Amino acid sequence: MAQAFDVVFLGTGSPLPSPDRCGCGCIIVAGNTNVLVDCGYGAARRIVPAGIIPAQIDVAIFTHMHTDHITDVPDFINQRWVSGATKPLRVFGPAGKQKMITGFLMAIEDDIRFRTAHHPGKLHPQGAKVEVTEFTVSQTPEAFFAEEGLVLESFEVDHFPVVPAVGYRAKFDGRSVVLSGDTNLCDSLLNAAQGTDLLISDALNPAMFAQYIERVRSMGRSNVASILEDVPSYHINTQEVTQLARDAGVGSLVLSHLLPNLPNNDEMEAAFKAGMSDIYSGPIRLARDLQRITVEKRVNP
Ligand SMILES: [Zn+2]
Ligand SMILES: [Zn+2]
Repeated sequence: MAQAFDVVFLGTGSPLPSPDRCGCGCIIVAGNTNVLVDCGYGAARRIVPAGIIPAQIDVAIFTHMHTDHITDVPDFINQRWVSGATKPLRVFGPAGKQKMITGFLMAIEDDIRFRTAHHPGKLHPQGAKVEVTEFTVSQTPEAFFAEEGLVLESFEVDHFPVVPAVGYRAKFDGRSVVLSGDTNLCDSLLNAAQGTDLLISDALNPAMFAQYIERVRSMGRSNVASILEDVPSYHINTQEVTQLARDAGVGSLVLSHLLPNLPNNDEMEAAFKAGMSDIYSGPIRLARDLQRITVEKRVNP
């Protein structure tokens, strides 16, 4: 019988405010192993509603250091600890992770002391700790984790000037999922996605994003509009990701980290992916917060 291999979406949004989508974050569930991938604003608050106990997440990996991928880390450390963790969280990622964790732990140092005093003997001191492993990253997928049948690989993507920025490939039970992280169209993502069962990608809809910029400008916020005009230069667009999914022969495509950051609205989501099915014939879905998507073996290998 196939083992559980799912991706649980905590936050499917981008930095722009949305009533429905939190900052980037998801959990790879592979058998008994839960891996947190990124933890942007609000993502930690989604873990329990998504049906997962934070203490059951012992591994966290990060794609890059933009705030919409990391600012809920201290809340996650706290939730994991108070929900019963008895061993340190293990963090893996490219350069910068130790600095990030050291800073977040410093910010919540007093909180940890206060809660320990509130609840003597009830909170395990190891559960609030974090062990960081930084790895170097290259254009081709390289494994940095292999436990209980789950293999995690990283590869560099193009989110310049964010360096390093990485994507991940997870392999388990004869299936694979690739998570693009934030990226432009790049060969390393195309190569990593070759023949994968599920590709989860960043995506910007150029027409909808241009409309969004015009709305912002019409509200008198021309400085923000001018910043937003730079955004398409460092994110893959819907046409590019669809062509990549086709060229890589992926089994199924899920878009997350949406630009613009849509509300949960069927009509707008349909508009976001309009025309994509003309290019790529596999299933195309837009992830929503709290959704659980199973990594299914692709049908036409
Ligand atoms: Zn982002
Ligand atoms: Zn980013």
